[in-house]
Amino acid sequence: MLLRHTPKEISERSALTINPAKTCQPIGAMYAALGIHGCLPHSHGSQGCCAYHRSTLTRHYKEPVSAGTSSFTEGASVFGGQANMMQAINNIFTVYNPVIIAAHTTCLSETIGDDLKQIRKKAMDEGKLPEGKYMISAATPSYVGSHVTGFSSMVKAMTDLAEKTGKKNGKVNIIPGWVEPADMEEIKRLTKMIGVGSILFPDTSGVLNGPLSGEYKMFPDGGTTVAELKSTGDSIATLALGEWCSADAARALDKTHKVPCQVLDMPFGLKATDRFIDALRTVAGVSVPDEIALERGQLVDLISDMHQYFYQKKVALVGDPDQVIAMTEFLVSIDMCPKHIITGTPGKKFEKRIKEITADLPYEVNVKAKGDMFLLHQWIKNEPVDLLLGNSYCKYIARDEDVPFVRWGFPILDRQGHQYFPTVGYKGGLRLLEKILGVLLDRKDRDSPEESFELVL
Ligand code: SF4
Repeated sequence: MLLRHTPKEISERSALTINPAKTCQPIGAMYAALGIHGCLPHSHGSQGCCAYHRSTLTRHYKEPVSAGTSSFTEGASVFGGQANMMQAINNIFTVYNPVIIAAHTTCLSETIGDDLKQIRKKAMDEGKLPEGKYMISAATPSYVGSHVTGFSSMVKAMTDLAEKTGKKNGKVNIIPGWVEPADMEEIKRLTKMIGVGSILFPDTSGVLNGPLSGEYKMFPDGGTTVAELKSTGDSIATLALGEWCSADAARALDKTHKVPCQVLDMPFGLKATDRFIDALRTVAGVSVPDEIALERGQLVDLISDMHQYFYQKKVALVGDPDQVIAMTEFLVSIDMCPKHIITGTPGKKFEKRIKEITADLPYEVNVKAKGDMFLLHQWIKNEPVDLLLGNSYCKYIARDEDVPFVRWGFPILDRQGHQYFPTVGYKGGLRLLEKILGVLLDRKDRDSPEESFELVL
């Protein structure tokens, strides 16, 4: 019982988080930055922050993650880090020669009041930013928000590169939000099948799920190119997948370059994928090909085959708001019963949305934004569940309460391969169902007495 000290009785807490269900803003900014081709993320703060952000991403994606740091020491901490950042810009372009630097702040540099946009302007004015090279920046103080808001801020910063030539490129911008590299591949595959030209940004496929070729590439082949980011201002529309991760960037493009946008849910499960496919079809004025209808039909078939096992099973889930909203809808649609729902990211809109999705359920759902794993555990102690869905930190609760557990979300630190298998789209829905049923039936096998231990389930 590693969490033996978690009490069943729930006390009101307003100024104490125990086992947060989130991590720090710059991790999200760094993940987003890796989705630009030829980009070196840069952490404007101390080396320790940068090491933590890189190692968290490496532990999840099992790939090397390169990033620069302004290496604050006592002097920079007191007088500001402008000199460090100017030196870093020079060193990075001289030694590593990326196409673009995507810099983010940290708690320390924000507290001092460093302004990366002003430092970038100074670098440009002094000719420190080489011709044909770029720098974007995001303010990501980690005493507010979460890795999700950091991701969103860096994606929004990418829209600073957008240009409007006055000639439409005929493409649809798709902002996928924080999903796995394989999910980004899947979104591109579906878009291509429908016959819609698209610019997906950020795009970490080919960066954090690349092949082992024997040759080290500081800047892998994948990622959205700067030319594509520039072209987003000429696109016919933007589809933002997720209010928390992607909507700000889409609205910025709408405001600055009059690219109309729609904010959709992340395409997890049947209904959200239907809405995504329908939005693509409508915006590009095309029809849905039979191959996609076939994939949808397969998902519907599997849902009906597995329904007897899912019906009325209680679920606890924790994760990032965009993912959890779509997953809750998916679980409700297959007649499972989401009961305890937590995100560590702040935002009352999350609670409202979950309540809307679960409004027709015949019981009250526990839901909390800016919640923590401690509260989730207490809820489960008070009302046990049949399934727990969330990141690797859930394994402590799953073990103590003996709950079947499916790893899903970020970070997954104790399993491998997730970056290669999509969970978005109809194909991703098949994988989610298979994973969920697998743990439910493993439990059934384990708990069945000898006389009712069945070969065929
Ligand atoms: S100091 Fe702030 S930015 Fe740095 S690792 Fe800690 S929470 Fe993250």
